[in-house]
Amino acid sequence: MLSLHKQKKIKVKIAIVGAGAAGLFLAALLSKHPQLQIYVLEKSTKTGTKLKASGGGKANLLNAHISGDCYNNAAFVNKLLQQVDGNKVLQAFHDMGLATVTDEEGRIYPASLYAPAVVEVLYANMKNNVHILTETEVKTLEYRSSGWHVGGVDMFFDRLVLATGTPAGMIRKNRAGYNDYLSCLDIKINAYKPSLTGFKIKHYPAMLHGCRTRAVVKLWQGKTLLFEERGELTFKEDGVSGIVILNASAIYNRLKNKNGCYLMVNFLYYDERFDIQQYLQQHASLCGVVHPKINELYCKQHIDVQNYRMDIEEPYDYEFAQVCTGGIDTEELTADFELKAYPHLYAIGEMLDIDGVCGGYNLFFAFASAYTVAQNIVYGDKNSEH
Ligand SMILES: Cc1cc2nc3c(=O)[nH]c(=O)nc-3n(C[C@H](O)[C@H](O)[C@H](O)COP(=O)(O)OP(=O)(O)OC[C@H]3O[C@@H](n4cnc5c(N)ncnc54)[C@H](O)[C@@H]3O)c2cc1C
Repeated sequence: MLSLHKQKKIKVKIAIVGAGAAGLFLAALLSKHPQLQIYVLEKSTKTGTKLKASGGGKANLLNAHISGDCYNNAAFVNKLLQQVDGNKVLQAFHDMGLATVTDEEGRIYPASLYAPAVVEVLYANMKNNVHILTETEVKTLEYRSSGWHVGGVDMFFDRLVLATGTPAGMIRKNRAGYNDYLSCLDIKINAYKPSLTGFKIKHYPAMLHGCRTRAVVKLWQGKTLLFEERGELTFKEDGVSGIVILNASAIYNRLKNKNGCYLMVNFLYYDERFDIQQYLQQHASLCGVVHPKINELYCKQHIDVQNYRMDIEEPYDYEFAQVCTGGIDTEELTADFELKAYPHLYAIGEMLDIDGVCGGYNLFFAFASAYTVAQNIVYGDKNSEH
């Protein structure tokens, strides 16, 4: 098949289902090619909703140290990184006029530190060959000889890109029937589970509610250390959250057998060899070395502040999750994110069974998968298996 950049005169109609991070980035990339007519079909009244809320409203777009190890499927992501690394995604944003800043841990943000600005930049790069149709829910898909028929809009398209995300971050009412339209396709979809979420803790000391402090956190299963990271913890009414805990939850959620998992927390994060007995010979409490609420717990229950064990009851539900594990199995895809079983049908972003830890990895995957599809649509099907 002739690639689109050689087919200057033929108009090609493309539908992108979902106006989230992946869908909007793809629309902006494709818009440079006047031979394409791009329709973005979005069920909600708003677009870019999760992107605007990401990174606490600052949008941690990607990370300077992306590697497959930060995801549930390292092999798949490492293969993607050979085609599209962080520099390519960053360059695409810079070409669109978005300035970025990188913090000392490699997290990359828009220079304005304002997530909605990213959506504005994407819109600014869409020309009049992009049509965004909100309140347009796709309900069915069917391949007919003339292309993809999309129920909900009753239109035909030459290419169809699915970018409908997952129910992460949604209340029960909004996540009912999420992505049910995929039942039109004969593909393997792994069950969704909330990830990057906090943990409910057994026998939780309510007095910790409201405490926010740094610590070294380890996730153990029996005698096996699964995860260790230093970072901020936020104590809630019945459990614990914060980036370090969200990252521990990504590891926990991937376990088939979750029995015997617990967190071990060292509140003296800045000096793991701190001699607490020596300190207490000179001072009546630990108020000079830990958060007041941790000191209160120490005074009342004599906890070991260097090895404080918290037994996991369960992860918090979808509405507190930043992403979901599960989704379209990567075995269904070519390296260009085209579905092997269906012509000219692609799937990108979080709706695939790829999830990363906190730090810009999930948005990077949404953008990098969109970038790959844009290259494939414009320059040809080099990895196609049809
Ligand atoms: C609070 C929060 C903070 C986060 N912070 C970060 C961060 O800082 N860095 C990071 O890397 N990741 C972060 N994430 C994760 C990241 O935002 C997501 O992984 C990313 O937005 C996924 O993009 P997407 O385009 O695949 O899906 P989405 O952004 O979820 O977009 C999917 C779109 O499809 C639409 N849709 C669904 N079904 C249909 C249908 N049938 N028809 C039409 N439209 C449909 C939806 O309404 C939605 O607009 C955060 C997530 C949350 C919830």
